[in-house]
Amino acid sequence: MEKLNALNRAFDKAFAHTATKETLMDLLACMGEELGCDRIAIFELSADGICNNTYEWCRSGIAREKELLQGIPVSRLDSWKERLSMDEVLQIEDMESIRFTDPDVYDLFHFQNVHSVIVSKLAFHRKGLGFFVLENPDSGMIEDAGIILPGMRYILSSLVYSDSLVHRLERIGFTDRLTGTGNRVSLQNMLENIGQDSSIGVIYCECIGWTRQIALLDHMKEEHRLLRTGQVLCDIFGEDVVFRVGSEEFLVLCEGEEESGFADMKKRLCSMLTEHDLLCAVSALWDPSGGAHCDALIRQVHLMNCKEKKVLTATHPLYHADEMPDEWSSGDKAAITLNRGDKFFRQAETFLGEIYDSPVLTAVVDINYFKLYNDIFGRKAGSLLLEQTAAAIGEKVGQYAGVAGYLGGDNFCLMIIPPVTSTPELTGFIEKLFTDIRFADGFTPAMGIYLSTDRQETMITMYDRALTALAQIKGSYMDHFCFYDASHFQHLREDKLMLLDIRSAIPRGEFVFYLQPQVHERTGRIIGAEALVRWNRRDQLIPPGRFVPLLEKTGYIFAVDTHVWEQVVRWMHGRRKAGLPLVPCSVNVSRVDFYFTDVAEHFIKLLSKYDIPPRYLGIEITESAFTDNIDSILEAVRKLHDAGFRIMMDDFGSGSSSLSMLHTMHLDVLKTDVRFMSSQNTDNRAVSIVESVISMAHMIGMLVVTEGVETPEQRDNLMAIGDNYAQGFYFYKPMPVAEFEKLLQDPDKLGDSPWNHEKLLSNRLGFRA
Ligand code: C2E
Ligand code: MG
Ligand code: MG
Repeated sequence: MEKLNALNRAFDKAFAHTATKETLMDLLACMGEELGCDRIAIFELSADGICNNTYEWCRSGIAREKELLQGIPVSRLDSWKERLSMDEVLQIEDMESIRFTDPDVYDLFHFQNVHSVIVSKLAFHRKGLGFFVLENPDSGMIEDAGIILPGMRYILSSLVYSDSLVHRLERIGFTDRLTGTGNRVSLQNMLENIGQDSSIGVIYCECIGWTRQIALLDHMKEEHRLLRTGQVLCDIFGEDVVFRVGSEEFLVLCEGEEESGFADMKKRLCSMLTEHDLLCAVSALWDPSGGAHCDALIRQVHLMNCKEKKVLTATHPLYHADEMPDEWSSGDKAAITLNRGDKFFRQAETFLGEIYDSPVLTAVVDINYFKLYNDIFGRKAGSLLLEQTAAAIGEKVGQYAGVAGYLGGDNFCLMIIPPVTSTPELTGFIEKLFTDIRFADGFTPAMGIYLSTDRQETMITMYDRALTALAQIKGSYMDHFCFYDASHFQHLREDKLMLLDIRSAIPRGEFVFYLQPQVHERTGRIIGAEALVRWNRRDQLIPPGRFVPLLEKTGYIFAVDTHVWEQVVRWMHGRRKAGLPLVPCSVNVSRVDFYFTDVAEHFIKLLSKYDIPPRYLGIEITESAFTDNIDSILEAVRKLHDAGFRIMMDDFGSGSSSLSMLHTMHLDVLKTDVRFMSSQNTDNRAVSIVESVISMAHMIGMLVVTEGVETPEQRDNLMAIGDNYAQGFYFYKPMPVAEFEKLLQDPDKLGDSPWNHEKLLSNRLGFRA
């Protein structure tokens, strides 16, 4: 009776709130306290088979877990499915009892110190919403739980349902459809809730060129530019504070940010806009007590930006959208009959406008290592390959209603009404498509696929999603196509959590470097090492593939890179002081670093600070960095080269530079892309690609390091090509510094480093002159 009264009082209090979320939290707290739980968590299911912890109540002293419990595949909870669907209240009294019978569930709870749980489902109008979990309830309360839960489940379900409905409506009403940022309504909402005493930073960002380009011809490109600008802003500031306030204008409102932090963010924004080739006028103001007069502050920044825009448009060569790059000289121009660039996009818009409810499949196609194909087989052969691909794509479009276009370089796009839409059949259809447009071994097409079932979706969204899917597999020999799916969203969510951590991870010393030895292929002796960053996050060692792209997108890579470079050089300095021999090491430089600093000056100063001769440091720049911002990168490379650093082009073959361009750059070493080797098992052609690359590189006096050597057969194949250097798991995996130092103690493992020798010197002495 006492309990029922307590419950009723709790209902009175909870339902007195005006917001559903507060009511929900009050009810969780009441249940948690009455039943003596450590934690109560609500998990909601999303359509993509993922569940997320959306609400939690924790007893005081119990750690919050919500942020960690995101994106759990529902398949991990398969053992619960049937019982929950039969409305059972599930109870696991002792987690140890399921350790071996249900390891998925055991692992999930064990790491949170949960030893017993009661679980009940959430459903509303027969639609499953998820479930809620009572963790470590008081054992004396189990019976009470059995009485309370069946009723409580209905109340919680209806609250969760109405809250998610509110969210969905908010998303529709408060979001700008094209860019996904907030709209004016959501800006107004934020302004109403800003603290009067808060510091406010305002950024006004206007895309330049919009009004002049609005003519139908460039409509698509401009939308794409706007979308990208919105994405850059959201990546840096978070989507909750970015608003599209005009056709081409964005406003960012940062509340409670320190002045220096805000200034850093603005700097990062300008660098990232340049990196993405987005011309914008950007103005910013920070006010320590801006909360009290936010409107005036916004007006002031707007005025500043109007001036900024005038200056930009007056001084910048009139912004003309690029023509589709046409690298083909008239002599060997590929005779492609598909529509090009804008013409294709316009045709596609007409096509989409005529469809009412059929799903539309968008595929963007890119030929792997196409530039190398030209190098190796000649331009004529390259043209032929493009023509064959274009003709095959055109034929497909003829078979199914749709449109196809050539987007320049080795890129194609097609939009068709697919004959099938269910997953296995669609995969079969795409596999057939792949076979039909594949003409050269080793240079297979890669396809990003997006199936749109919502005819409200703009074409730009469809194209962009297919591109996102393509980016997941570009350069991989194993995967020929990739469907855009919700897991990419899942990644976005994880990325957000990571970004929150990253800012504080550097001062906490969580970024460390591993060393992977580079060896002489024949003798296996160590001639140097590459420093590879690792993130020591909550006792988990995260490889760079998981966070470097994200850091590059947001500009934070610069902070991490400079930190790693300094750690490496400091380590060398320590060895030198201890009288130990130095081993040449290389560090990775991201193309984004060039936007933030004078990279050459930075390295020259760093090595002189620690008194290390530059020849001991290799600078690895990925090939793809050389595609944009090329002049400033080439200038930095020249300066570094002249100062005595070894310059290495990393991942050669993955980007678009051709071998013939290399000898005009001041490069010393060429590192082949890891993926060439991993593809050897599936595609013999890859061996001959590597062979051609090595012999051509030797012809222009560069040393070659083959990356990714994993098996004795690969090593043998390479040895047959010539005397070379390698880096790969067959020899050594990346290892902690202490382990590498142990290796160095064995003189038999050390080889003579080629980096200071004749070949390199001959380059420096004017081989290319
Ligand atoms: P990378 O510079 O091309 O480095 C070589 C990558 O290939 C390393 O991956 C290495 O572990 C891997 N690898 C080496 N041998 C083999 C092999 O035999 N088989 C296979 N499958 N892989 C092999 P890791 O350490 O995961 O780094 C990935 C990429 O992340 C690097 O590629 C580099 O582009 C980037 N990166 C690493 N450290 C840094 C850094 O400090 N700054 C920047 N900006 N990027 C970094
Ligand atoms: Mg590298
Ligand atoms: Mg590499």
